[in-house]
Amino acid sequence: MELLENVKTRVYKFGNKEADGNREMKNLLGGKGANLAEMSSIGIPVPPGFTITTEVCTEYNQLGEEAAMGFIRDEVESAIANIENIMGTKFGDKENPLLISVRSGARVSMPGMMDTVLNLGLNDDAVLGIAKQTNNERFAWDSYRRFIQMYGGVVLGMKPESKEDIDPFEEIMEALKHKRDIELDTEFTIQDLKDLVYDFKEAVKKRTGHDFPTDPWDQLTGAIIAVFNSWNGDRAIYYRNMNGYPSEWGTAVNVQAMVYGNMGLDSGTGVCFTRDAATGENIFNGEYLIDAQGEDVVAGVRTPQQITKIGSQRWAELAQVEEEDRIANYPSLEELMPEIYKELNEYQEKLELHYRDMQDMEFTIQQGKLWILQTRNGKRTGAAMVKIAMDSCKEGLITEEEALLQIEPNKLDELLHPVFDPKALASAQAIAQGLPASPGAATGKIVFFADEAARYKSSILVRIETSPEDLEGMNIARGILTARGGMTSHAAVVARGMGKCCVSGAGALKIDYKSRTLTVDGHEYHEGDWISLNGSTGHIFEGKVPTIEPELSGEFAEIMDLSEKFTKMQVRTNADSPKDAQVARNFGAQGIGLTRTEHMFFEVDRIKAMREMILADTVKGRKEALKELLPMQRSDFEGIFEAMAGLPVTVRLLDPPLHEFVPHQLETQRSLAEDMHITLQEVKNKVAELEEFNPMLGHRGCRLGITYPEITEMQARAIIEAALNLKERGIVAKPEIMVPLIGTIAEFESQEAIIRATADKVFEERNDTVEYLVGTMIEIPRAALTADLIAKKADFFSFGTNDLTQMAFGYSRDDAGKFLPIYIEKGILKVDPFEVLDQEGVGQLVEIGTTKGRSTKKDLKVGICGEHGGEPSSVEFCYNTGMNYVSCSPYRVPIARVAAAQAAIKATR
Ligand code: PEP
Ligand code: MG
Repeated sequence: MELLENVKTRVYKFGNKEADGNREMKNLLGGKGANLAEMSSIGIPVPPGFTITTEVCTEYNQLGEEAAMGFIRDEVESAIANIENIMGTKFGDKENPLLISVRSGARVSMPGMMDTVLNLGLNDDAVLGIAKQTNNERFAWDSYRRFIQMYGGVVLGMKPESKEDIDPFEEIMEALKHKRDIELDTEFTIQDLKDLVYDFKEAVKKRTGHDFPTDPWDQLTGAIIAVFNSWNGDRAIYYRNMNGYPSEWGTAVNVQAMVYGNMGLDSGTGVCFTRDAATGENIFNGEYLIDAQGEDVVAGVRTPQQITKIGSQRWAELAQVEEEDRIANYPSLEELMPEIYKELNEYQEKLELHYRDMQDMEFTIQQGKLWILQTRNGKRTGAAMVKIAMDSCKEGLITEEEALLQIEPNKLDELLHPVFDPKALASAQAIAQGLPASPGAATGKIVFFADEAARYKSSILVRIETSPEDLEGMNIARGILTARGGMTSHAAVVARGMGKCCVSGAGALKIDYKSRTLTVDGHEYHEGDWISLNGSTGHIFEGKVPTIEPELSGEFAEIMDLSEKFTKMQVRTNADSPKDAQVARNFGAQGIGLTRTEHMFFEVDRIKAMREMILADTVKGRKEALKELLPMQRSDFEGIFEAMAGLPVTVRLLDPPLHEFVPHQLETQRSLAEDMHITLQEVKNKVAELEEFNPMLGHRGCRLGITYPEITEMQARAIIEAALNLKERGIVAKPEIMVPLIGTIAEFESQEAIIRATADKVFEERNDTVEYLVGTMIEIPRAALTADLIAKKADFFSFGTNDLTQMAFGYSRDDAGKFLPIYIEKGILKVDPFEVLDQEGVGQLVEIGTTKGRSTKKDLKVGICGEHGGEPSSVEFCYNTGMNYVSCSPYRVPIARVAAAQAAIKATR
């Protein structure tokens, strides 16, 4: 065992155009580590370093610090020696010290969710070496104080104690500024920085009881462990849960030689994108700062400058900066450092070609030398995702299949959301303008703290700037507005990833957290006041600007057409009204997979007749009430059949327990009693009679049609008559009548007999016929297990995976909300099985049902109409099971179409 542990490689080196790893090794090296290795091996100048594998994170979680560090000690030492060789420096050296960064890196990017330590290796000796080497004492001491600050926060837990408190190190800095009567960090003298280092160390000693670690090897161990721990920090767990990433993945640790962008005017740092992450436009863009470190760009304290000249000019127009002022104070990198720009431009082209996708890169210029710190597939809005995929395909960069696989189906949802009504916009009052950081239209009430975003149904989070702690609130808010920060600030990057509307860097806003006010141009806005954001232009409006439905054309339509090309599995919709049916049809639905007839009964004019039917004591009374309902149902069906003319429409017979329809409030009970000429007590008795201990498993589904056959009769008649009426008008209706919740073939037979007899009767009365099918839902485990028998009679199967999940897990759909979140938090379940089909368990029932059904009837039509029909991983499962169609809510139709095409493409690979 011990021998084996020793042979395994746990540390992978890279640098000097060589690397032990490559990009295929994301699971082991994390996305960042795999990319650094890949970049180094294709000749991109990355600072040398090494990656500690994700397996070590797991070993650390299982075996603890001593064992994990024991496994890697020798390899880490040799990897540090390799960096020293390449850089010509020495770890902890007084003369020529090596400084390193220590960063997390999971297999997928989790921006800002885990910890990073920079400038590691600095101590009272090394700071002198750095000062001498760079001939810049100020830079050396500034780096040292930044290091203590960061290491203190990340590794030693020196953080603000409450949300109103400020960072303990910031507090010391503020006090010194006050004492020295200065405002900016840059005004500190060298002596001030030395004093800060001293005070910071004192603060650490006071709060933690230990001296700040001076041995670089101890510092390194602490940082590695902190990165491992941050994998299980609140932020990371929240982000993982939000995205469904399992905790077993772990994070890798990337250790790299530090390079500095703050070594003077020939140094700088920046972030760039090979295409526009907000709109998808194919233009190289990004931001940089001269004489600054990476976090300065992201933190948004200084106004970043644009990389390209054209980007800079566009920015100046938005920021209302005159050309002369722009050239003098905010020149682009292209203008300021043309040689470096040329080199960077070459790398961005090379990297996009190599990775065949839009790249998000970070770079640093250290005393005239360009280093690429990282590259990754850039986060982008839904609109940018669609445009980039289609453009790249047309440019020949990627194939049609690759373009489809580049689409994250769920992100299409963003494109389906409302936009501001142009008419309303014309008269809306713009109070300020910031940067168009993430497109979309958002309207909500102002909140100033992320943990208060849920206070209103629609809120806009207004912050000076955001930080990773704000993630949950950002996700809840409708939109995000910041006073500071550029297009690559935390707020902007995170908002784009979430597809959330964001306006950043609106410098005209004065935000006061204490008084919870936002002041613009002398006007004061308070928490709870309505504002509206246009994330595509950066405009901020007073009040609530009305929105309209978006138009879906251009690249979106092209992606939909491509989807169609690659799959035969159809996508239908679950729709209960002509309007929903029409929306779905516009999105490309190829029929209706489920019309829940019960929803129609809840409308005001019907609920009364429905209640009379339920409360009737005799068959005769029930039939009378049903007679009233018949024309209403018939006209509903006519509307739906018409909206879906020529396409199949599955209509399901009444399903829910009857008690859902009766009034439970005294007032309504009283008026019902009056209408029906019975006593209040009689109504109450009937309501009590309908009460069930376990309604989800009670008197519902086909059990209703079996106990009250006249209901099935009325519904069958309404469906057939509606189809005949349309036929008279020259419109083709294709009804598929579906029996819910059967567990035995006999249940199906009983309902089928009524349906067919009713249809025959109607055909005779009308002297005409239409084609129709009679099939069943498969949503009770017993039905799945006896599907071969059921298929002898049923024309089609539709898996009701909501009920099938309920009954396979034994989780009541009505009560699961009480415990499922805890199950997920504790890792007992990875995801909510009502959202994502449980392929391992429930999936078996679906497979058995399909296989058994088709063993009886080879071409049996099989579909799914549970909520899972619009969830991408479940759609893929349905494709692999050989289903004819999935059915989902109208707004998920485009998502399911892309997911279906992706499943087909993946299946051929
Ligand atoms: C199902 O059970 O999956 C289904 C579609 O029916 P309902 O949600 O109406 O029970
Ligand atoms: Mg059901």
